[in-house]
Amino acid sequence: MDMAPDFLDQLFSRGLLIPTGVDGLYGRSGVFEDVITRFDALVSTYGEADGAEVVRFPPGMSRMAFEKSGYLKSFPQLAGTVHSFCGDDHGHNRLLECLAAGDDWTGEQAATDVVLTPAACYPLYPVIASRGTLPADGLLFDLQSYCFRHEPSREPTRMQLFRMREYVRAGTPEEVVAFRETWLERGQQLIRSLGLPMTVDVANDPFFGRAGRMMKVNQRDQGLKFELLVPVNSEDRPTACLSFNYHQDHFGRTWGIKTAEGETAHTACVGFGLERVALALFRHHGLDVASWPTDVRTVLWGTA
Ligand code: AMP
Ligand code: ZN
Repeated sequence: MDMAPDFLDQLFSRGLLIPTGVDGLYGRSGVFEDVITRFDALVSTYGEADGAEVVRFPPGMSRMAFEKSGYLKSFPQLAGTVHSFCGDDHGHNRLLECLAAGDDWTGEQAATDVVLTPAACYPLYPVIASRGTLPADGLLFDLQSYCFRHEPSREPTRMQLFRMREYVRAGTPEEVVAFRETWLERGQQLIRSLGLPMTVDVANDPFFGRAGRMMKVNQRDQGLKFELLVPVNSEDRPTACLSFNYHQDHFGRTWGIKTAEGETAHTACVGFGLERVALALFRHHGLDVASWPTDVRTVLWGTA
């Protein structure tokens, strides 16, 4: 049974999420944000001994870097670009006339150098490349960003603008595979500590079109991506709340990143869907955080 619309309405009527008239685009209440902040801090406690370099990008990235990243090959349907009015007075008049007549006014818009970030790690790879050869032990980063994906939906877990916390590792194949294994374990421990049911499975990304079918098979067969799933909208279609990606040498080749030994670097990232985890908590422990189980409250707030 699909419970999604009910759950979204409950979140609205409690004021946890605030409708804007666009599916997947919501305001967040202070309580919702507090849960996200606490979860984000919990992730940090699991990762802090590793000494990752903290970097925060705004939710837009360079269009040139985005084009080079290969995202449009796999997910053109999800991408969001920033357009702006670049015309003259005549163009401005046409724009206002269209607007007044209720016609499409966006013809006067032109693409800017900015696109919306599709995943928190995408702006990072060119920055890694710009620093030159990796140091002997590779690099490790801590990221968090709002991300955009054009997938409007009534399922509260499928937003158009949502936050992703990530750790990203660049180094030798052995280093990045070990990093992913560590986080697969930590991720399960972390979600278990929050009293949430979960499964881990190979991922099934929505690669676009005919060529996308091959990419899907490749992703599955090579075990390139795992997801930690929690039932949120329905029992039979659990939601990916964490993902564990091994990009092999894709970004290393794309951006010319080399290890200290002169090999093309491999990369991996672990992503935490912050809104999805918050929604899983509200789904399983109730909409009133004050009545969440004591042990869960202690894990998040340090006190029941
Ligand atoms: P992905 O790059 O698809 O693996 O996304 C990383 C993480 O972001 C996923 O594990 C989800 O938890 C979260 N995520 C992906 N898409 C959405 C979305 N449309 N709404 C909310 N969270 C999402
Ligand atoms: Zn990533």
